[in-house]
Amino acid sequence: MTIGSFDRFRERSADCRTRGGEMADAGGRAVGDPIPVVSYARTSEDGRRKDGHGVRYQLRINERTARAHGCVVVAAYGDSGCSASREGMARPGFDRMIEALTSGRTQDGQPVAGVVCVADDRLYRRSEDLARFSAALTSAPGRVYVDPDGVRDPYSYEGLMQAVRSLDAALTETRVRSRRVANWHWARAVEGVPHSGPRPFGWLEDRITLHPDEARLVERAIEDRISGKAARAIARDWSDLGVTGTRGGRPNGQTVTQIITAPRICGYRANKGELLLAPETGEPVSGQWEPIVTPDRWRAVCGTFSPGSLFLHRGSGAPRRTTTGRGAPRHLGTGFLRCGARRSDGAVCGGALCATKGRSRRSPYAYSCRNCGRCSISGPLADSALERLLFDDARRAAVTEDARLRWSSGDMGLEEKRRTVASVLVHCLVRPGVKGQHAWDFSRLEPVRR
Ligand SMILES: [Zn+2]
Repeated sequence: MTIGSFDRFRERSADCRTRGGEMADAGGRAVGDPIPVVSYARTSEDGRRKDGHGVRYQLRINERTARAHGCVVVAAYGDSGCSASREGMARPGFDRMIEALTSGRTQDGQPVAGVVCVADDRLYRRSEDLARFSAALTSAPGRVYVDPDGVRDPYSYEGLMQAVRSLDAALTETRVRSRRVANWHWARAVEGVPHSGPRPFGWLEDRITLHPDEARLVERAIEDRISGKAARAIARDWSDLGVTGTRGGRPNGQTVTQIITAPRICGYRANKGELLLAPETGEPVSGQWEPIVTPDRWRAVCGTFSPGSLFLHRGSGAPRRTTTGRGAPRHLGTGFLRCGARRSDGAVCGGALCATKGRSRRSPYAYSCRNCGRCSISGPLADSALERLLFDDARRAAVTEDARLRWSSGDMGLEEKRRTVASVLVHCLVRPGVKGQHAWDFSRLEPVRR
């Protein structure tokens, strides 16, 4: 608003005050009598002081404002520690004020002809609340809205526009504020400051120093897992030792998985489920805390899980997170295939083969070992090999005739197919292919049957 139009607005406001007075006059009040208004105050939830001081101070200011503009406060309503920007947040004071405006009387029967407040954003920060407030305020003629800037005519175009401008400013502020909070978290994360929240398993309360016993357990679990131990078995070991989570929970396969695949174990910092990369270098940000293992070991242990239970890295090393539930597996073999390559020490790798993009039209996707990188198999080849394993004559009894028919006729969805596989096979070990040998070799899958 320009200064000129603001002055005109003030004149009109003064105008409307008189008019408001005359209207009220019709309701039995003598001209010159102060206009009875209700006072409203609100403090937001982030106020560190939820003692109502803020509300009390605002109500005091409202009384002064009312007096200065020929009004008198007949009832006061307040909401302490209430956000007006969050949907569904209860504001009992606001509700009672709306009630008073709608009925034209306060709860103890005093007539109401307006509202006084320190600023519009105390009343509304969401368009729904503005609509509700406007409807209640203008539900009778002659009402006024008063704030330290003066009296506003809620029925006029200018009065409404003023309210809308306030709403717009409040919405922008809410957006900026949430972005600011997100930026604050990001900046802290890039600095490598540990997460707030409960202490992570493996570290002391300072979230920097290793917890000697827990860190040793985590390190041991990672090595056990890389050599093929089930997360559930590790959880059982921990339970037997009387180990509990940092919030007292009993370890299970899932919590162990979360603990040993969290990037923090190798010092990497994650933010919102993604590995945080330094903006200058593109390298993972290292936290200020002591790591338990090297990044290589972290990658190795992540490689032993099927996608869906942890942080994955793909391609350039940029990670992505898929959690169970979100992003169900899209390929038949996901989770059922284990790497059969030999490690340098002669042991079988055993890492989970994960679906990746394939290199040919015949193999648009492939399953590859994330652990050692020595084993990869064409996706369609592995999936049809799995299918053969389910239905080969000698084992046909493993799957019902009905299931076989629905599978082969295309009536069975991927999810049910995967359940069928799981009912027959624990997993399949996949032998690495022979270089230069392009013919499909179904025998590369060695099933471990249930
Ligand atoms: Zn491998």
